[in-house]
Amino acid sequence: MESPMHPAQMVSVRPVRKTAAKPPVGMVLLFGLPGAGKGTQAKELSKMWGVPHISTGDLLRINVAHMTPLGRAVKNIMDRGELVPDSLMKEMVEARLQKSDTARGCILDGFPRTLDQASWLIERLTTLRVSFPIFAVRIHLSRNQLLRRITGRRHCSLCQTTFNIYENPPKREGFCDLDNTALSQRPDDTEAIVKKRFELDAALTAPVIEYFRTRTQFIEVAGDGPVGSITARILAAVDRLSLVQA
Ligand SMILES: [Zn+2]
Repeated sequence: MESPMHPAQMVSVRPVRKTAAKPPVGMVLLFGLPGAGKGTQAKELSKMWGVPHISTGDLLRINVAHMTPLGRAVKNIMDRGELVPDSLMKEMVEARLQKSDTARGCILDGFPRTLDQASWLIERLTTLRVSFPIFAVRIHLSRNQLLRRITGRRHCSLCQTTFNIYENPPKREGFCDLDNTALSQRPDDTEAIVKKRFELDAALTAPVIEYFRTRTQFIEVAGDGPVGSITARILAAVDRLSLVQA
């Protein structure tokens, strides 16, 4: 980690290169259960569009790591696997959206998670009269696929490589291919905790998804297959919607 920064200056990815002269692109709000690949798709879209990837999970972790006032407030809540209150989430996202690199749009990953956050965001964008379209994108995978994906993860604490015992197993069972360190499972990747997260998440996001279906352009894509083909599905749907609108 570099020198401590004020939370408002913290970004989840490297700042995107200067974009002042380029036209607005759009804002993508990513939805999907944990493990559906939101973070991966956010990174891909961010690269292709040249707009920042704003991951509230990353923002929270950075705040906790630096023990900012916000980080201290959320640490206990996160350790219990509970959701951070709307007021803190909105405060954190507001600080991030004020940065000038979001002028052409951004990819929001992990926000909004509740109806309160959703209506706050739309109200804020309306007040600002943003000139870009908003796309709500839901990446869909069955719960069994997701469970396998998450509970199969094994992590090397030395080189940080992640394996998956089903999809991407290490050559020698239980040990890292690169340095032979014993692999471990993150405490929140176990079946009981993942199922609890699914329930929490589905109950919260179902009304949020309904909210966006009627207020923004809504896209649903299948989350199976290679990363690139999921990105292609999202971009194709965005193009179709843009054509309809033009
Ligand atoms: Zn390793």
